[in-house]
Amino acid sequence: MTSDAASARPDPTDEVVDLCRDLLRIDTTNTGDNDTSVGERRAAEYVAEKLAEVGVDAEIHESAPGRANLVARIPGTDPGRDALLVHGHLDVVPADPDEWSVHPFSGEIRDGYLWGRGAIDMKDFDAMVLAVVRSWQRTGVRPTRDIVLAFTADEEAGSDYGAHFLAQHHRGLFDGCTEAIGEVGGFSYSVDESQRLYLIETAEKGIDWLRLHAKGRPGHGSMVHDDNAVTALAEAVARIGRHRFPVVVTDTVRAFLAEVSDVLGIEIDPEDPETAIAKLGPIANIIGATIRNTANPTRLAAGYKDNVIPGRATATIDCRSLPGQSELLERQLRELIGPDIAIEYIQRQPALETTFDGDLVEAMSAALRAEDPGARPVPYMLSGGTDAKAFSQLGIRCFGFAPLRLPADLNFSGLFHGIDERVPVDGLQFGVRVLDRFLRSC
Ligand SMILES: [Zn+2]
Repeated sequence: MTSDAASARPDPTDEVVDLCRDLLRIDTTNTGDNDTSVGERRAAEYVAEKLAEVGVDAEIHESAPGRANLVARIPGTDPGRDALLVHGHLDVVPADPDEWSVHPFSGEIRDGYLWGRGAIDMKDFDAMVLAVVRSWQRTGVRPTRDIVLAFTADEEAGSDYGAHFLAQHHRGLFDGCTEAIGEVGGFSYSVDESQRLYLIETAEKGIDWLRLHAKGRPGHGSMVHDDNAVTALAEAVARIGRHRFPVVVTDTVRAFLAEVSDVLGIEIDPEDPETAIAKLGPIANIIGATIRNTANPTRLAAGYKDNVIPGRATATIDCRSLPGQSELLERQLRELIGPDIAIEYIQRQPALETTFDGDLVEAMSAALRAEDPGARPVPYMLSGGTDAKAFSQLGIRCFGFAPLRLPADLNFSGLFHGIDERVPVDGLQFGVRVLDRFLRSC
């Protein structure tokens, strides 16, 4: 190859930084409201343009004006093989510039990090996918199986205008897809200088968001009153908020704890894993939430005047259920709440769990080990939910695998939806190399 040709082909590990930066500079704030959410269309058009430049056609499907989802298919060389779905969302949660050290949509590079809302959730992965696909197209690399790319809207507000919309109204785009990778997994957790766990998401908790409705007798605030909706609701909310649900160790968490126990050389009692989990540092918040159902009160609403007892009061509870436990959780909550308060589900999406085995897992593990000899891939359960919930309804086996090598001292889980969200530039480049290897070999 002449030097001219070489310079005309940017290295994907260089290009990923520019691509991620461009994406971070497109404000795609998802407020949860179609009138105030912005930028998803622009971001989808940016992705479409970057794919078109290298000869990949993409379709943009809007679920509502501006709520844009992009899907493209890279044909594989072996039509007999099932397709792999690679998905990333383009929206981000809001960011208040006053709270940040840099402007959240400036895409600034400082101290070896690329800063901005979405830097790890998840424009980093979107950029990695683009960088790999663009380099393949330029150099004539073709995957063996079809790879379907999906860049979605609305993940940060439940995916109704994003992945769920695609799965329900455009399921043909995912024909042949049996497996998928997306967020949140493939990131490193340093054990010591020479060893890093890479947490691959094989399970995620269910979403069980409830609204509680208490009813009482309206009345004057100055009088004796024993049927007050606010009091009844407050008691129920307090009982839920203070309750600790029993520990249930699922297969995924058991496998994760066994690896942790081995690598750290500590005993972990599977019946009482909490003490060990507490020692894991920043990721303890995620792992600790995956050994039991949880229920956190998040909103309260009642009343309209200081001296009027209202007839109704409502509260929202963010509940997350372990695989197979949604019905049990409902019964547990019913017991805590008592018979007089009504429960309405505002979101109910099942937990997911798959096994940590098979060719795809082997390919992920091998790609990680090739780029980091100290890599130790482990399965884990995410306490939150992702677009995988929607795609799994198409019968697709979903994994969280957006590879990222992180510095030992970075509080990674704290950066999700956090202030000063940023991604290490070398971690991003590592991710491109791993993803490239993985997609070539899977
Ligand atoms: Zn995300």
